[in-house]
Amino acid sequence: MQPKQNIMHLPVYQPGKPIEEVKRELGLSEVIKLASNENPFGCSPKAKEAIAAEAETISLYPDGGAVELTAALAEHLGVRPNQIIFGAGSDDVILMIARAYLVQGDETVMATHTFPQYKHNCEIEGAVSIEVPLKNGKHDLPAMLAKINDKTKIVWVCNPNNPTGTVVTREELNDFLKQVPQHVLVVLDEAYIEYTESADLPDGIEVIAEYKNVITLRTFSKIYGLASLRIGYGVGHPEVIHSINQVREPFNTNRFAQAAAKAAVKDQQFIAYCREQNAAGIAYLTGEFKRLGLTYYPAYGNFIMVDVKRPAKEVFESLMRKGLIVRGGHALDFPTKIRVTVGSTEQNAKFIAALTQVLDEIAVQA
Ligand SMILES: *Cc1c(COP(=O)(O)O)cnc(C)c1O
Repeated sequence: MQPKQNIMHLPVYQPGKPIEEVKRELGLSEVIKLASNENPFGCSPKAKEAIAAEAETISLYPDGGAVELTAALAEHLGVRPNQIIFGAGSDDVILMIARAYLVQGDETVMATHTFPQYKHNCEIEGAVSIEVPLKNGKHDLPAMLAKINDKTKIVWVCNPNNPTGTVVTREELNDFLKQVPQHVLVVLDEAYIEYTESADLPDGIEVIAEYKNVITLRTFSKIYGLASLRIGYGVGHPEVIHSINQVREPFNTNRFAQAAAKAAVKDQQFIAYCREQNAAGIAYLTGEFKRLGLTYYPAYGNFIMVDVKRPAKEVFESLMRKGLIVRGGHALDFPTKIRVTVGSTEQNAKFIAALTQVLDEIAVQA
């Protein structure tokens, strides 16, 4: 047997260790995971009720077109239903975009470092990823623009960017999009956008109204707190959405995900609560980082990348021994930084207490 050549070098995704395993291995009674940008407040109680009600129809295939959810979301966003496509997480939408638009030898432009699924899915299709270094942790849009040529099919912009948490401004994005040729699809990944409210920042829904060649991706996994259900979406021009629909698997989102997402969209009070708590968490954590003499990238999502000025792997491992799981920058090519998800008030305080001890134990890296 011979798998296709362009997947031979791809790693199998390595998830973080589950909380239960860390507890067992290290003999800890409490473990706090601030590694995957999950919502520390769970999800809307209305979403849980909707899931329970859906149990009655478990033996029936879901509505592949997610008609009811599409209608509810279209109303919430102020777009038409034919501008929306759902995926099993926005990961699935990324996969479908790559599948629909890329063939062997095409070029695709992205930042380095950014969300790894762009490159992963582009390589599966045999496309060449052109990676443009971040500038001060931010997308360098002029440098990305300069890499676009006749072979370029897709440009990926992650805003806020994972793992750095930084954003491009409305003006920066507009200057960029005005110059991107029409044959290039720009994917604007806004997985964390509900956490940021500022007139200076682009709103992907407004952007797609102006630019036919942009698709905005969002998800129910982050502020909506439905990560385990696997549901995310793309919003764009009906022609783009149609092309992606042509490669979509018939039943790619399940009944529970659709029902929960529909209930969750209607509970914007929960979203507002999470947004406020997150803002307070960022204010607290960044205040503590300053007190500890640490620097960090401006954070616009529900996570912060902080420079601990020590080897990230050591800091990561020491934090783990104290029952705190973060994402170590050593695995992300940021050797002295860690990425920490903003938790609840109590979790944030425990993280800072543990970090303070860890910083005392490990020597500063010159
Ligand atoms: C979490 C995340 C996603 C995907 O989340 P799904 O659970 O697949 O919806 C997409 N993009 C970024 C930048 C993310 O951080």
